Amino acid sequence: MPGTMHPPARRGKGPDYKASQRVARPGLSWHSPGVERALVFADSVSADATARTVGAARVLAGAVDVLDLGATVAEDAAPTLARLAQEGGYAYILAPATARGRDVLPRAAALLSAPYIPGVQGVEGAGTFTRSAHAGAVVEVVRCTPRPVVLTVRPHAFAPAQADETKTEHPDPSSLCEVVGQAQGEGPDLATSRVVVAGGQALGSAETFAGLVGGLADALSGAAGATRDAVEAGYAPNACQVGQTGVSVAPDLYIGLGVSGAVQHTCGMREARCVVAVNTDAGAPMCQIADYVLEADLFDAAPRLIAALRASG
Ligand SMILES: Cc1cc2nc3c(=O)[nH]c(=O)nc-3n(C[C@H](O)[C@H](O)[C@H](O)COP(=O)(O)OP(=O)(O)OC[C@H]3O[C@@H](n4cnc5c(N)ncnc54)[C@H](O)[C@@H]3O)c2cc1C
Repeated sequence: MPGTMHPPARRGKGPDYKASQRVARPGLSWHSPGVERALVFADSVSADATARTVGAARVLAGAVDVLDLGATVAEDAAPTLARLAQEGGYAYILAPATARGRDVLPRAAALLSAPYIPGVQGVEGAGTFTRSAHAGAVVEVVRCTPRPVVLTVRPHAFAPAQADETKTEHPDPSSLCEVVGQAQGEGPDLATSRVVVAGGQALGSAETFAGLVGGLADALSGAAGATRDAVEAGYAPNACQVGQTGVSVAPDLYIGLGVSGAVQHTCGMREARCVVAVNTDAGAPMCQIADYVLEADLFDAAPRLIAALRASG
């Protein structure tokens, strides 16, 4: 393989990288709630993501129920979720921060007149959560005393939990809409995939993007992601966009093919456990945060990687 492999670089996760930001609610103070119950809205996400979300819930609360509404559209799922949350007296209503969770949960929060906290990535205590803000430049600590509170949880932010202690409900949702057809995306869900291969505008065309980014993602049983510039150039669908105005991912392995590493992109992938940058410019910001840098032309490196992975089965 041509190109130079650089040793792992240190990822900037120190205080300079993420300043702490407190969001105070004057006049509100926490009092012991006893056991608080959580309702996890978990349909249309992988079992793994659900287990991880339930893991978060178990830290928050003593009892967790899972609500499965199948593929119900958000307009129907939200009122059903809100009604069951109210009837069950749940303190927390949560879902993975996937496109589905982000679609349904704010609607349910509005119906419940409840606070909504998106993209929770840590739990400091009952009703106290951490989430990143300002494109990941700061970590907010949000304390919330009203109940219920509605939140989405970043997939992979928590260790998996045993899901067998939970009770799953499959109620009939209220029906405002009828689903007449659904397009099923191919491959693993970008937000929850353990491997993400992302490509930038350097790919040059939709065909090349599909062949190299999609091909490498397939070879690794992962999902394809893209920078906004690649999406705007029409190389990849909008749903593939990783970053501030796209999807947040936290895979075990993230590979950036010709991705410069602008802060608007890295704020959506910096929780990845291992980052590999393939770039002709070793000084690109992505190479500064990467664990491994392959300083190489992606048009040479990616086909070789795909071939080697396919050959190894
Ligand atoms: C408000 C706002 C929100 C934004 N939200 C997002 C977002 O959510 N997600 C996002 O991604 N961006 C977002 N952006 C855009 C972001 O600022 C960058 O412009 C974008 O991420 C850069 O995309 P890129 O890396 O594909 O392109 P470029 O910045 O052009 O970088 C191309 C990279 O490819 C490398 N390269 C070129 N040719 C090769 C080759 N043959 N082999 C290997 N490497 C090569 C270059 O060295 C360079 O590092 C946002 C911007 C704004 C202002």
